Amino acid sequence: MSKYIEISSKTACNRINSKFLPFNWDLNIYRGCEHKCQYCFALYSHKYMESDDFFDEIYVKKNIVECFEKQISSKRWNRKLVNIGGVTDSYQPAEKKYKLMPDILKLCIKYKVPVSLSTKSKLILRDFDLFAELATLVPVNVACTITTINEKIRQLIEPGASTIKERFNNLKELSKTKVNTGIFIMPIIPELTDSYNNLSMLYKFAQENNVNFAVTSILNLRGETKINFLNFVKNKLPHLYNKIKSHYKGSYVNSVYQKHIDNILEKIESTFPLKEKKISYPNYENTDEQPSLF
Ligand code: SF4
Repeated sequence: MSKYIEISSKTACNRINSKFLPFNWDLNIYRGCEHKCQYCFALYSHKYMESDDFFDEIYVKKNIVECFEKQISSKRWNRKLVNIGGVTDSYQPAEKKYKLMPDILKLCIKYKVPVSLSTKSKLILRDFDLFAELATLVPVNVACTITTINEKIRQLIEPGASTIKERFNNLKELSKTKVNTGIFIMPIIPELTDSYNNLSMLYKFAQENNVNFAVTSILNLRGETKINFLNFVKNKLPHLYNKIKSHYKGSYVNSVYQKHIDNILEKIESTFPLKEKKISYPNYENTDEQPSLF
């Protein structure tokens, strides 16, 4: 059972200066995440808090709605796109209790703020009408991260998140509106979720559920993520430990493996094309390429 710690925030949206991301503002209602993904990239964010229990101590920014209105009602704001939940999932279980997202979305409607959001939770459909209305006014991009078609693997790597079927259902329902829907196939985990069959089935189901775009990226192992993920593999999937490690050169996969996955994805993309072109995040270590999602 997670512990919720209510805090006050000074601002709602934080400025992001990354040449790899297609937005400059990110809003996070929660610190910590109950989805408990073993590959979680955001573990670092608890280093700044008093606790280091990222998965079970959830900080809730109780005043985020009023902070958000203060920011976006400013004349200087100029309807910039806000990414909601770039660090932690805005529809994790805590949102069932705090219900902060509906008020955030109502403000986006009021001030006509374009948004992007990704989630692994079926709770997003609670706010279906708000997303549908917002998408009639401004661009709205909603993606669900889905990494595998195997529910047993999903339970192992993302134990606190919704099922694969529920996430595809999110996309199917939201595709009936003007929301631009996408699938984030990320991270692709070497030896676990990188087979042709797994990746092609994800594209096939995306196509069948009217998903517009896909974003792919191979697992990077940096800092806390590396420690947590390799401990998990050692304990739960010991037969894969050496195999997974063999694909890495430092924090990133080696170029031979990267090329192998690129080739697979190229083939799959031509077999199951989505409405918008597939976007693959580059290996940050080796390129200056900048993806543009929206
Ligand atoms: S949903 Fe995102 S933030 Fe939450 S545990 Fe999973 S990877 Fe981390």
